Amino acid sequence: AVVRPLLEIRDLTVFHGQLRALSGISLEVQPGAVEAIIGANGAGKSTLLRTIAGLHHPSQGSVLLDGEDVTRTRPARRARAGIAMVPEGRRLFPSLTVEENLRVGASYARRGPWSIDSVYDLFGWMRERRRQKAAQLSGGEQQAVAIGRALVANPRVLLLDELSLGLAPVVVERIYTTLPQLLAAGLTVLLVEQDVGQALQVASRVHCLLEGRTTLTGLPSQLTREQVEAAYFGLR
Ligand code: ATP
Repeated sequence: AVVRPLLEIRDLTVFHGQLRALSGISLEVQPGAVEAIIGANGAGKSTLLRTIAGLHHPSQGSVLLDGEDVTRTRPARRARAGIAMVPEGRRLFPSLTVEENLRVGASYARRGPWSIDSVYDLFGWMRERRRQKAAQLSGGEQQAVAIGRALVANPRVLLLDELSLGLAPVVVERIYTTLPQLLAAGLTVLLVEQDVGQALQVASRVHCLLEGRTTLTGLPSQLTREQVEAAYFGLR
């Protein structure tokens, strides 16, 4: 049986001023999958996630969530429709407490399994530190709060932009170990990862971008290192 993709990007072109950041990108994310976007600096990965979240407007193409065209839907309504993003750099409110940051995410919440309490269950240390200001947390802890803030909205699709940026490998590892629990709760994940090895390890499918175009899509188990390198660097 053919499963309808939960997220579908069709022929997407996005400009930043004169710069063409994405050129005719198409990709599908299957329900329940973890799919990863890899690519060098400036390849357009963040632009793609931000466009899916409604923060950039494409000059061409469309974004569909479960078959529904959300290309012109505002970011807040997209959140209610089930798209949540953990932005690059986490972007917590530093002077608010952990719990206050989580409440921000709950303001566009859908019904679902996630609540502030279930986020505290997911990240064991968080409950007892809920009254601390976000600024007092380590980078990895802040990343966990940023994920929690997205989860409490009860999204259908979770967009993760560069989780590993600036974090020690052991911390990155700890954060990625929560992925199976997110999937078990019914989530679909599309992530951008600078660390190609990490992406190949966690993703069911990877998409490589180069200068705003898709140069490779495939299952990690079926890709050779040479194929990935060629797609990443644009070698032929
Ligand atoms: P990185 O890993 O560095 O974040 P990326 O693959 O996520 O890279 P994007 O951030 O999407 O790439 O950037 C794609 C291109 O668009 C780059 O050339 C970048 O300089 C440019 N760009 C991104 N955002 C803007 C913006 N708001 N205004 C102007 N140019 C931008």
